[in-house]
Amino acid sequence: DWSEFYGSLGLERFDCPGKGRGLRVTRPFRVGELLLSCPPFSHVLSVKERGCYCENCFTRKEGLAKCGKCKKAFYCNVKCQKADWAMHKLECSAMTAFGENWCPSEMTRLVARILAKKKTQKESCASEKILLIGDIQSHVEDEDNEQKQNREADIAALHRFYSKHLDLPEHKDLQTLLSQVACNGFTIEDDELSHMGTAVYPDVALINHSCLPSVIVTYNGTSAEVRAVQDMKPGDEVLISYIDLLYPTDDRNHRLRESYFFTCNCQECKSKSKDKAKLKVRKRSDPIEPDDISNMTRYARKTIREFRACKHIKNILPSSLLEMCEQSLEQMGSVFADSNVFMLHMMYQAMGVCLYLQDAEGAVSYGERIIKPYSQLYPPYSLNVSSMYLKLGRLYMSLEKHSAGVRALKKAMAIMEVAHGKDHLYLKELRKEITQK
Ligand SMILES: [Zn+2]
Ligand SMILES: [Zn+2]
Ligand SMILES: [Zn+2]
Repeated sequence: DWSEFYGSLGLERFDCPGKGRGLRVTRPFRVGELLLSCPPFSHVLSVKERGCYCENCFTRKEGLAKCGKCKKAFYCNVKCQKADWAMHKLECSAMTAFGENWCPSEMTRLVARILAKKKTQKESCASEKILLIGDIQSHVEDEDNEQKQNREADIAALHRFYSKHLDLPEHKDLQTLLSQVACNGFTIEDDELSHMGTAVYPDVALINHSCLPSVIVTYNGTSAEVRAVQDMKPGDEVLISYIDLLYPTDDRNHRLRESYFFTCNCQECKSKSKDKAKLKVRKRSDPIEPDDISNMTRYARKTIREFRACKHIKNILPSSLLEMCEQSLEQMGSVFADSNVFMLHMMYQAMGVCLYLQDAEGAVSYGERIIKPYSQLYPPYSLNVSSMYLKLGRLYMSLEKHSAGVRALKKAMAIMEVAHGKDHLYLKELRKEITQK
């Protein structure tokens, strides 16, 4: 019985006016306290992370053992391989048969696993967890043309790559399922926010959005863990953020409408208290005209979209991406202050390219410009801030700037002790990094 299960955790489901279902606490929770830990209903490791993590439990280690058949999936041991076989067999022979042409999206791969899991569960006994997935909101009607096209491509890929092992449901049911997973799937990220895979967590999917979240989701292996980042009293709703909170209110709500089909009405969206700092303009002796500001804002949004599209072009040179960043920073820098979020966005992208090129000094120079405004503009416990401190700390260490490295890693640790819990493997690794020279 699910209400009993939630009750034992100090949680309860409730009908939230205007938002559908929600989750709230029935006892007090302190900052850092664990509310909920959920194994995934289904999960999938990213193709690009193969060989780095175990496909079954997402343990990161050297010398994982290969699947002897496809030589593409990697495991801790035979036990993990066996546990994953019901899922891996959907892809094992198909990958060999299709070779280079095997290219389903991560969404397609996850949906195939959900369908396979639903089938095995139906055969044993219908658990309420399946109902929960069937129950999750779908927004097929609200999707725009691009989203519809993506769904159709995913459905075609399901038929092409998975029909041998799955009896696929009707087209309309697949559309619904894909739309549900698009809104309710979680991307699993590591301590530096690098993408590892995608999963569905029916319990966590109950939690509504706020731009001032009361909890944060982190991952322990493949499980999602939900911890308080604000002190909570009985009756308080459990709220996570679905989006990157760096951006001003209009941009956040644009993103929420585009991907989740609602507009946020949280305290921060009403007061817009951080918008002014987020859109900070350069101080000049001749004040900047409002027209110049709105033109530059338009330019910034356009550049962000164009850069995102460029990153996906195959064979694009990192040096030309870096050039795009530098050019736009120069352009925007005539109007925007260094702490303006559009400047920070492009600096973050530039840092990413430097990291990719293993240019530690370049990456540090961007990271140093980013970190202070980041810690002011994000909420107090933010994975965006902790991951930036981690990257910086590790870069300093690699450049043998030991004391700066320790300082940055300790800042990351303070946030992660709350977000991940003191016993998380990441914290153990971090303590080791700090003590060793
Ligand atoms: Zn494993
Ligand atoms: Zn295989
Ligand atoms: Zn909001």
